[in-house]
Order: sequence, then C-alpha cells, then structure tokens
Amino acid sequence: MIFNTLDSPDFAKQRKELVKSIEKRGISDKKVLDAIRKTPRHIFMDKYFVDKSYQDHAFPINCGQSISQPFTVGFQTQLLSVLPGDKILEVGTGSGYQTAILLEMGAKVYTIERQYELYLQAKSLFEGNKFNLKMFFTDGYKGLPEYSPFDSILLTAAAPTVPQELINQLKCGGRMVAPIGGKQGQRMMLIEKLDNGSCKYTDYGAFMFVPMVSGTKK
Ligand code: SAH
Repeated sequence: MIFNTLDSPDFAKQRKELVKSIEKRGISDKKVLDAIRKTPRHIFMDKYFVDKSYQDHAFPINCGQSISQPFTVGFQTQLLSVLPGDKILEVGTGSGYQTAILLEMGAKVYTIERQYELYLQAKSLFEGNKFNLKMFFTDGYKGLPEYSPFDSILLTAAAPTVPQELINQLKCGGRMVAPIGGKQGQRMMLIEKLDNGSCKYTDYGAFMFVPMVSGTKK
C-alpha cells in the first residue's frame, strides 16, 4: 500500500469483499484488482459516507461532484492497460481516488481539476508523501501541452465528443479512455492513437458520469 494511513482490519476485510464482487462483474486484470485491494477509499470519501466506503457505489463529494464507483474505476483502469512508469493524464481529479489507484500501479500521474475546492482538498490528501504526481487547477479541455505527449489519458467526467486537443497530447501508440455523450448517458470509449496518428474507437458500453465542464471555478 503506497498510502501510509490509518486503516482497520474491518476496512481491509471490506475491501477484499469489494474486490471479489467487482471481479465477479468482469474486472479480470489482477494488477487493477490488487490496486483496489490496497487503496484506502475511505480517506477520499465525504465524512458523511465513510462507513459506506467499500460499497460498490458512487457517492457525493463537495461541489456537487461524485467519487466514482469502484467497478467503474476498475473498468476504466483496466481499459487503460497501465504499465509501471506510464505517464498518464487524468482529467477530473475529484476526490483523488482514481489518482491513487493509478499511483498504486506505478504510473506517473498528471491530474487536472477545474473546481478549486476539490483541487485543494485532493492536494492535501497527497501532501507529505513522495508520490509520482503533479496536480493542476486548470481546465481539462486544454490538457497540459507543456507535459505532452502522454502514454495514456483518462477522462473521469463525460465529454459530449472526444476532445481533439487531448488527442493531440496523446502519443502515437497511446490510449485514451473516456465516457462520451450527454446527460442521458454516455458510452465508454477506448481511443487508440495509431502510429500514423489516426484513431481507432472501440465502444465499451453504457455508463453515467458527471459532465466535463469547460473553464475553472474558484
Ligand atoms: N475520479 C474522480 C471522479 C470525480 S467526478 C473520483 O473518483 O473522485 C469528475 C470530476 O471532473 C469532478 O471533480 C469535476 O469537477 C471534474 N471536471 C469536470 N470538468 C472538468 C474539466 N474541464 N477539467 C478538469 N476537471 C473537470
């Protein structure tokens, strides 16, 4: 476990059960399951829901946003095919839970949040530890051109269409995982940027995320 934090045997047991249940639902990548088993979701939860940390549900966090459902975190992470040392751009830090999973898998993470309050809150959770992590308060639609290209890009908020600026920041041979669509629901898309710069799109089914919104909010 990369987090040096308070855990309890009860939470550890609940995490094991959670991992069993998402494995049954189709998450098969052992490295992803292992990261979920090792990551203390309870430190990323709103204090009113801490006792529900290991239920396989999304829960409200500040600013009207939500911490993703563990199954969804597993699903997106599995599609990213993370390798240790991968340089990953995450759009939508939110609670920081997905960020922690990527770090646990050995990635170098660049994460962006547009809500200042959430940015500060997540930043405080990672402070004091030597993580391979850079956090940014900016608009994810712009990405981080100065740090590009990225091995992979993960959107944890729904965009109406695949943001071209982010495709530009993906390396050839890289992968982007993004929920694409509107309020009625989205499709989980895997976008593989081929060596000739063109993209291959694969649809991985229906999901529901909060929307990706342009601009920042203080
Ligand atoms: N992975 C996070 C998901 C949080 S919800 C978790 O499990 O906690 C999605 C987040 O995306 C929200 O915090 C929202 O503020 C953020 N977001 C929406 N549009 C954004 C944008 N344009 N740039 C950066 N972050 C954005």
